[in-house]
Amino acid sequence: MTRDTSRDDSLQSLLRGVEEFSQKVFPESRQLFSKLSDSQAPHTLFITCADSRVVPEMITQTQPGELFVCRNIGNIVPGYGEMLGGVSAVVEYAVMVLRVRNVVVCGHTDCGAMKGLLNPNSTKDLPTVEAWLRNAQAAKSAMFTRNLEGNEAVVALVEENIRLQLMHLRTHPAVAAALANKALNLQGWIYGIGDGQVMVLDEQLNRFVPLTEAIQRDQGN
Ligand code: ZN
Repeated sequence: MTRDTSRDDSLQSLLRGVEEFSQKVFPESRQLFSKLSDSQAPHTLFITCADSRVVPEMITQTQPGELFVCRNIGNIVPGYGEMLGGVSAVVEYAVMVLRVRNVVVCGHTDCGAMKGLLNPNSTKDLPTVEAWLRNAQAAKSAMFTRNLEGNEAVVALVEENIRLQLMHLRTHPAVAAALANKALNLQGWIYGIGDGQVMVLDEQLNRFVPLTEAIQRDQGN
């Protein structure tokens, strides 16, 4: 696979974007950025897929300083001790040092990682991706009995994967301690790329419910 980057203006456009940000956008929120210049106190750790179509701050309408974001292929959180790497460090730091009050694991429709998990052939030349997706393998096993195909299978796997990664999160000592102290909420979301809707996992009902229902339930708590 070769690509001639000399004919591509995406880097130029990135640089122009930064220019626009620092000259126009930044000055408009100078107060906010000045407040943030030497500390942060985000309320939420937002774990989501690296997919370019998922934009946490846009989806949640949050400002800089509100979300501590961790992104990777498939919004995966390896179980504690399985793979002590970047994600585990982010979780520990967010919970122990930043003392976030919420952790959201946000998957999405049309997720390439979940498609890759369903079609192992597609990742056979990608040893690193393949190894990483093993952290989601149990989600695939959990839906095997359901005999789904095509997009239905992808959606079901996206759902199972969120359940699994929430389970993995609970194996992290920092999370377990904060949960025991009632100092942390865990929530699983699915963002619909085609419709901009978010479905929220209701762990009591064991199903994903529309946002309006999730908001009502949260208010009732
Ligand atoms: Zn994805």
